[in-house]
Amino acid sequence: MAQRVPVASIQQYSQEHLREVLNTAGRRLTPQREKVLSLFQNLGPGHHLTADDVHHHLKQSGKKVSLATVYRSLKLLVDIRLLDEGEWQEGLHCYELRQGGSKAHHHMVCMRCGHTEEFISEVITAASRDVSQVTGFELTEVRLILRGICRRCRQRSKATAEALL
Ligand SMILES: [Zn+2]
Ligand SMILES: [Zn+2]
Repeated sequence: MAQRVPVASIQQYSQEHLREVLNTAGRRLTPQREKVLSLFQNLGPGHHLTADDVHHHLKQSGKKVSLATVYRSLKLLVDIRLLDEGEWQEGLHCYELRQGGSKAHHHMVCMRCGHTEEFISEVITAASRDVSQVTGFELTEVRLILRGICRRCRQRSKATAEALL
């Protein structure tokens, strides 16, 4: 049975832990990267942002970071595994805070409005383990993106169709 992820149960990395990870990765937490990272930290887990979203948020809060720098910072933060990246739709990448210690979570994404639900599923975890055993792979990541049309968008298109009758 799939379960929605209760946001409160997700543990977050502390600032110190973040610095430690960055130090061991041998890279500096430049002010720009720190701004990008703290945006995700302030929003908390369960927020999925595109590079444009990040750029927009930073601009709104008066922080001057170019879009190119946002892209570079996101790539670095994914490389050192502080953020996770997923392709929500073709060519549309979303980023989120990597959730320390908790189980793998997956996403159901609305193709119309981008609304996202997170879920965990024992069945998917077990199936991934099975496949990795059969194929001899060492499993390093289990992330599934399911795409569909959310309830609200479905209701909206139903209402539009009815209005046209
Ligand atoms: Zn997520
Ligand atoms: Zn929708």
